[in-house]
Amino acid sequence: MRPLDLVRKKRDNGELSPDEIQFLVRAYTQDEIPDYQMAAWLMAVLIRGMTGPELSALTAAMLYSGEVLDLSGLPGVKIDKHSTGGVGDKTSLIIAPVVAAAGVIVPMISGRGLGHTGGTLDKLQSIPGFNINLSLNEFRRVLKASGCGLIGQTAEIAPADKKLYALRDVTATVESPNLICASIMSKKLAEGIDGLVLDVKTGSGAFMKTEEDSVHLAELMVETGERMGKKMVALITDMDQPLGLRVGNALEVEECIDVMKGGGPADLREVSVELAGWMFYLAGRTPSVDEGRELASALIGNGSALAKFREIITQQDGDPAVIDHPERLPQAQHQAALLSPSTGFVASIQCEQVGVASLVLGGGRERKEDVIDPAVGLVLQKKVGDWVREGEPLCTIHYNSGARLAEAQGLLRHAYRLAENPPATRRPLVHRVISGKGTPA
Ligand code: URA
Repeated sequence: MRPLDLVRKKRDNGELSPDEIQFLVRAYTQDEIPDYQMAAWLMAVLIRGMTGPELSALTAAMLYSGEVLDLSGLPGVKIDKHSTGGVGDKTSLIIAPVVAAAGVIVPMISGRGLGHTGGTLDKLQSIPGFNINLSLNEFRRVLKASGCGLIGQTAEIAPADKKLYALRDVTATVESPNLICASIMSKKLAEGIDGLVLDVKTGSGAFMKTEEDSVHLAELMVETGERMGKKMVALITDMDQPLGLRVGNALEVEECIDVMKGGGPADLREVSVELAGWMFYLAGRTPSVDEGRELASALIGNGSALAKFREIITQQDGDPAVIDHPERLPQAQHQAALLSPSTGFVASIQCEQVGVASLVLGGGRERKEDVIDPAVGLVLQKKVGDWVREGEPLCTIHYNSGARLAEAQGLLRHAYRLAENPPATRRPLVHRVISGKGTPA
């Protein structure tokens, strides 16, 4: 097989066989195909798209480029959740302990913040001592001990994705739904799971801004997972304003602890319970999603989720005292209120700008090698639909550098749009459910 012929075939809208795709991925991962040829093929995929069988073959080739965890020795169903990323999107820290508290195993391999969106690993690392760099053997050990583990991608997991992602990043081919699907699914399926709940975000703070694009990506991922024998469902959830009230790593951990103590913002609680409810349903732990939601709420209400979170933190060398003493989480030195310039209703919040504001404060990375400041971020006092008087705070900025504060203030001032009347319609938290053939909604 010659790479050039396969580039030409895709360019001319042909369908590659599984063997041809396997050849490309294997040879590229082993440095036998130069970047320029692989980049040309990726661009052809972005423009021409892929058939279902091609996408399955690509996902499988990337998945089996590395180790696939065999968790069959651990009794119990293994279910995970993956979010396509958002602002204030912290549900993993709630869902993982909730679901594990009911005896379902949650082997969660997560990512870092990407662009304006936050990442589970960065949030977890704001807990003093928390170790996300477990080897796969240590990961198995914590899964056995507490039914849940939260780690980063290791060198053994989907190495083809690591190399392809870096190439996509510099060749304007990240946005292909097929390539996003194969990238995400190859890493998630390596966890040795039986089922996966996808949280596909839509709106101004998501990578997929329109519902149509979000649904398309969700359908691709659900179909691909099902072809590989997994139970799948995708929820299209709202990301047109931040989820919850807090954006920033340590601030978000504190908000999750609040939810597990029975408080916290209603939208964060609702989306977390919804996703956990689906995880229980896919696991066969409850006969319906309704009962799954009830179970999730009960486990939060009776303290089981918080107890499980304490256990997970302890297993991964973190300081569990942050649960009773959240002030032990990193705290920014300064706070500044962003005051409303006028009186009216919050008509919209440009959510990506809020994410970028947190990033420029130091809560995210502008370059790969940047070090995160876990303490900085924002606490929103006003969200869409709220009434605000001139001079009242819209949000409070937690910061450590005056220069960064000024930039964040500029972004946030433009992010909030006020109007005389409240928005005519409220966007739902869950827009749609895309269920697989094996998972009737
Ligand atoms: N997240 C991933 O892991 N891969 C993509 O391609 C996009 C988002």
